Amino acid sequence: MQQTIDDALAYARGFIKEGKVATYIPELAKGNPDHVGVCLVTKKGETYHAGDWQQEFTMQSISKTMSLILALELVGYDKVFSKVGVEPTGDAFNSIVKLETKTLHPLNPMINAGAIATASCCVGGEDPFGRFLDLVRTLCGRDTITLNEAVYLSEKKAGMRNRAMAYLMQSENILECDAEEALDLYFKMCSVSIHTQDLANYAVILANDGCHPVTGERIVESWIVRIVKTLMVTCGMYDGSGEFAIKVGIPAKSGVGGGIVASVEGQMGIAAFCPGLDAKGNSIGAYRILEYLSRHLNLHYFAGTDKKVV
Ligand code: GLN
Repeated sequence: MQQTIDDALAYARGFIKEGKVATYIPELAKGNPDHVGVCLVTKKGETYHAGDWQQEFTMQSISKTMSLILALELVGYDKVFSKVGVEPTGDAFNSIVKLETKTLHPLNPMINAGAIATASCCVGGEDPFGRFLDLVRTLCGRDTITLNEAVYLSEKKAGMRNRAMAYLMQSENILECDAEEALDLYFKMCSVSIHTQDLANYAVILANDGCHPVTGERIVESWIVRIVKTLMVTCGMYDGSGEFAIKVGIPAKSGVGGGIVASVEGQMGIAAFCPGLDAKGNSIGAYRILEYLSRHLNLHYFAGTDKKVV
């Protein structure tokens, strides 16, 4: 296994020059394009890693899977999915177009508009971000996980497109709170700092029906895990979800910080990191690592018997 992971990293290194670090959030532009790392945690709790696996980065859109968990726990299925749909958009993660032309509701929780609506469902009650952070720490198994203040402030300052979408949604009474409150929570959720082992720990819980792989303790209810993994399949890589499904075939979620988290049903959690992104905002290095691992460990959800590579 360790050899396969090392090989996956070496394979991915051949592509990382093609990636561009996100700059629309100025603080993300400081990401080092040469960083590349991976961590894999099996259902038995065995952990493997390689490269810059301990390098911290911000979750960005990976947080959308966790804010969805929190929202479903707090307000339930009917409320959340009265605010946001479950269909792929085919548009960029930050697109505003279908909010006005197709439906007033954002199409799914894995795009920015959908995650802002989801965050608005988490705003009621005491210290919403504290509650979110507690959830992240539990899912990732590390108590020291915290906010990257500089990224949060940078995103809050630069996030005009997100602001436009939030105000549009508020004008249609879609948000559960004021647009600025939902945005503030959303920006903080995106700016939580983690590394690949944190995310692999989280992904193996998803792979294990919401239970901790070693202790067996239930961390997330099964029906919520099912919804989150399904949306990772259909929408987790934005408008690249279809191609990722064919080439990699693992429920996954990417973020513009350079991370991708992937949950191999009943088997393992994997997280990969490399800051350079493709045109759709998915990390090129992390994508290639997952492609390699899927192929060599036979992880595609429809692996079959034909080893033809596409
Ligand atoms: N915080 C980022 C934004 O709102 C998240 C986008 C992403 O990771 N794709 O633009």
